[in-house]
Amino acid sequence: MQILNRLPNSNRRVFMLQVATAAGLASVAAGASAQAMVSESDPQATALGYKADASKVDKAKYPKYAAGQHCGACALYQGAAGSSAGGCGIFAGKQVASKGWCSAFAKKA
Ligand code: SF4
Repeated sequence: MQILNRLPNSNRRVFMLQVATAAGLASVAAGASAQAMVSESDPQATALGYKADASKVDKAKYPKYAAGQHCGACALYQGAAGSSAGGCGIFAGKQVASKGWCSAFAKKA
């Protein structure tokens, strides 16, 4: 970074702050896009009967569903306890609603 040596000290400081800020914003943006919510219309979600609200599960189509089952109580849910959304081992790179459900539900031990 020879260009930095040519800048007065205050300009150098400002430049470094701008670089650090830009890098921070870029990582925040990357994190946000990596955590998009799973859409119910996503082909994989449709195939698994995923609903963001477990009370809306088609109980005739998924008789395995039982009241009280939801992503937050599933062994595949990766969100923190009490979180409203989190990752899921089935939907890589996306988040599911804690109150959601899909037919791959496996009760947390
Ligand atoms: Fe929710 Fe579990 Fe289905 Fe993932 S596998 S969507 S956490 S019920």
